[in-house]
Amino acid sequence: MRIVFLGPPGAGKGTQAARLMERHGIPQLSTGDMLRAAVKAGTPVGLKAKAIMEQGGLVPDAIVVGIVAERFMEPDAAKGFILDGFPRTVGQAEALDLALEHRGLKLDAVLELEVDPKVLVDRIERRAADTRAAGGTVRPDDTPEVVSKRLATYHEQTAPVSSYYAGSNRLKAIDGMAPIEAVAESIDAALAAPAH
Ligand code: ADP
Repeated sequence: MRIVFLGPPGAGKGTQAARLMERHGIPQLSTGDMLRAAVKAGTPVGLKAKAIMEQGGLVPDAIVVGIVAERFMEPDAAKGFILDGFPRTVGQAEALDLALEHRGLKLDAVLELEVDPKVLVDRIERRAADTRAAGGTVRPDDTPEVVSKRLATYHEQTAPVSSYYAGSNRLKAIDGMAPIEAVAESIDAALAAPAH
């Protein structure tokens, strides 16, 4: 099963993707995690991505498309994958369709977690506070200024990706305001429903 998870920062994509990963035995491919690993390792991609991520902007499509296209050819993704944080631009969505088509593959579902923008900042702030309380390291882009920039970037560049998938009848909207378990149930129902 090949799934794309759309939704703004703080929507709960990571939480739900982790659950689906266990349930379906397919890996969660988070471009945010891949880029953070590249930054940590100081690779050429990481060196380019660091400043952009710290400012809440988007890493260029060519870089991100390259790492995803390589990643989904790894053996653990042979049965499928859950993309979290990608595609984030219409260009990335088009490149993904093309890369899959070249390999005779296609997406089974595109799920969008819909959350009231007013709760997103609170959710991210709470996540940062919880991490800090547990003695963990807070992401450098989880400061209030960068969070608002990330949300603005989302509305400008990523929101059109929903229309891209809706236009080809592939988008399934999920109410992301419900409790975690209820969101999980809506996702299971959406995945079980026949594709149109
Ligand atoms: P969140 O969903 O909480 O904003 P992510 O972990 O998905 O966070 O991404 C963190 C940052 O990594 C983004 O703000 C962006 O700078 C970069 N990034 C992640 N995925 C992409 C992508 N598909 N295209 C461009 N930049 C990306």
